[in-house]
Amino acid sequence: TEELLRKTEKLHVAGQLAAGIAHEIRNPLTALKGFVKLMCHASEESKMRYYHIMQEEFNRIELILGELLILAKPQAVAYMPHDPFLILEEVIQLLNTEAIMNNVEIILCGDSTLPTVNCERNQIKQVFVNVIKNAIEAMPLGGILTITSLKQGNDVILTFVDQGQGISEDRLPRIGEPFYTTKEKGTGLGMMVSFTIIEEHHGCISYQSKLGVGTSVNIQLPASEQ
Ligand code: ADP
Ligand code: MG
Repeated sequence: TEELLRKTEKLHVAGQLAAGIAHEIRNPLTALKGFVKLMCHASEESKMRYYHIMQEEFNRIELILGELLILAKPQAVAYMPHDPFLILEEVIQLLNTEAIMNNVEIILCGDSTLPTVNCERNQIKQVFVNVIKNAIEAMPLGGILTITSLKQGNDVILTFVDQGQGISEDRLPRIGEPFYTTKEKGTGLGMMVSFTIIEEHHGCISYQSKLGVGTSVNIQLPASEQ
């Protein structure tokens, strides 16, 4: 019965998520339909303006679907041993331009000889991207993001400490809720996706934060058996 309960729970979550996705995509779609109608009789000048808005709405749909697609597993799920430090280095390289443009310095320190982690590489990469992006976005005036890695027992622990605006205590539990965002152009999907991925990897992710001081994100992943 416990299994059944878990399945029912999962279905419930899936239903809520589906409703959320439908809602989030219907909004830009409704806008697009409206503008297509307007386009027929619009002056050249208005057309250019509408064209611009429509492009933004298409981008929004693309962004939402892009974030969700990472949850759809690749055809053959291949959990393979990977070095999390190498994945981190790759992600930092990927996001470094964005960091520099925002006056954010990313420092990677700690154990570079970590044990491997059994994982779907692209998914773990996506988690790191999501967490690091959030840290950059939390520091609009710039700052330092310190990433530390260490081995603890049979686990690998990765910590991301930013000097951003922080999260108030009452908002902390809402992180990871589908579509929970405090950003004007946020989707509120990044952490929901990341929490799901870490859970599927039998890991743990937790937040600690202080308003005006910064946030620390802790990711714990089991090391693969040697
Ligand atoms: P999004 O980035 O699209 O808003 P996320 O799921 O990535 O969605 O994050 C949800 C919310 O959690 C953010 O809008 C923000 O309020 C909060 N958050 C996440 N990480 C941080 C952080 N490092 N510092 C401050 N707030 C954060
Ligand atoms: Mg985000």
